[in-house]
Amino acid sequence: MERTFIAIKPDGVQRKLAGEIIRRFESKGFTLVGLKFLKVSRELAEAHYDVHREKPFFSGLVEFITSGPVVAMVWEGEGVVAAARKLIGATNPLTAEPGTIRGDFGVNIGRNIIHGSDAVETAQREISLWFKDEELVNWQPHLMPWLH
Ligand code: ADP
Ligand code: MG
Repeated sequence: MERTFIAIKPDGVQRKLAGEIIRRFESKGFTLVGLKFLKVSRELAEAHYDVHREKPFFSGLVEFITSGPVVAMVWEGEGVVAAARKLIGATNPLTAEPGTIRGDFGVNIGRNIIHGSDAVETAQREISLWFKDEELVNWQPHLMPWLH
């Protein structure tokens, strides 16, 4: 089953949006398989954003991501990588559609609340960068007998 890496950035955590964001992923029907709350090291931040190393905003981005705690998550479900990007919205919150997380809560491209992997291969790289195998839970809520 497909998995994606999602991180609520320090601005999202500071603004107490973690519950609202998790609710949106749960309500959509995706399954949480990994979750941790951490202050990101410079090493992890630089590895995570390695593809942007040459961009003018790279050092500011690393400063920001390491400036406060983040909620790091792995979500599972059919087509979850692309669907999560839809829930998240465009990179610039000013142009992100209302109804998306960035469109509803953000105004600044440098403070856009949330990260989501942009492709299945990127998701695999980011999940293994942020989580050990034993930190991920294999479970299928629809197979559990006691729900209703
Ligand atoms: P996304 O997070 O939507 O995948 P990118 O991968 O293009 O976007 O960029 C990674 C992150 O870098 C963005 O989420 C944003 O926080 C930051 N960023 C991107 N472009 C800019 C910019 N022009 N100025 C400041 N920060 C930026
Ligand atoms: Mg990206």
